[in-house]
Amino acid sequence: MALIGTERVLSVHHWNEKVFSFRTTRDPTFRFENGHFVMLGMPAGEKPLMRAYSIASANHEEALEFLSIKVPDGPLTSRLQNIKPGDEICISRKPTGTLLLRDLKPGKRLYLLSSGTGLAPFMSLIKDPEIYERFEQVVLVHAVRYRSELAYRDYIEWELTHHEYLGPQVRKQLIYVPTVTRQRFHHEGRITTLIETGKLFEPLGVPPLNPAVDRAMICGSPAMLTELSELLESRGFSQSTHVGDAGDFVIERSFVSR
Ligand SMILES: Cc1cc2nc3c(=O)[nH]c(=O)nc-3n(C[C@H](O)[C@H](O)[C@H](O)COP(=O)(O)OP(=O)(O)OC[C@H]3O[C@@H](n4cnc5c(N)ncnc54)[C@H](O)[C@@H]3O)c2cc1C
Repeated sequence: MALIGTERVLSVHHWNEKVFSFRTTRDPTFRFENGHFVMLGMPAGEKPLMRAYSIASANHEEALEFLSIKVPDGPLTSRLQNIKPGDEICISRKPTGTLLLRDLKPGKRLYLLSSGTGLAPFMSLIKDPEIYERFEQVVLVHAVRYRSELAYRDYIEWELTHHEYLGPQVRKQLIYVPTVTRQRFHHEGRITTLIETGKLFEPLGVPPLNPAVDRAMICGSPAMLTELSELLESRGFSQSTHVGDAGDFVIERSFVSR
């Protein structure tokens, strides 16, 4: 099988001037684990220009979905943001990543902590029935600067809760906490602040973080990952160091700062 395959864009949704998402066809032989990322790109001369992208669709879905930033002057996203249905997208056939349910020790409550496009792998994971079998409660926190960046909010709050198969589990076990840092909103502030002040836990009626029962997956900017990893480690959580090593929490970069 070729290392890079070609898929066709099915639909594009622009959430605002900074973020968009798109769906593509999926080669039926393409397999991945929920939480994985792939290299994705567009034809550019001899070699396609590729970047890492988390897969936002679940592995039981027919199409592939991605959530993307629009970086002004970004080599890939300045072009990618103009894609239309029917366009070709290059996708590597080697999905990989560390946001894997199997690398978490058993626990009671799972926190999915994301900022910006770091939500993408968790969109895949909250559609995975296994997550609701392994954990009694799943708390999805999505931190953005402005309300318009809360991609998939309606989908999570309405469509997923009424999903034919997942709906009952989602309604019972998934808690969605969107939080905004630069506008008024019912949850305001960065994730670290919400944890440190206890504001994340009080409204949910859950106790503060406890490594005996809580587990976490983190996806966001390099700075967000460092801060949250340090916070969790200071509270006795151990990080999975590599694929195959079960820990109290796992992390994935949602981008590399240059
Ligand atoms: C494991 C992994 C998974 C990733 N998954 C996604 C994803 O699901 N969606 C996505 O949009 N990007 C994702 N990225 C980032 C992606 O690979 C590209 O960096 C992004 O698409 C921009 O590409 P570019 O060529 O336009 O600009 P680049 O030259 O790649 O980036 C330029 C600068 O833009 C900023 N930047 C890049 N990506 C982001 C972002 N997502 N959010 C905020 N600032 C950013 C950084 O400061 C970066 O230095 C991921 C990166 C990694 C390492």
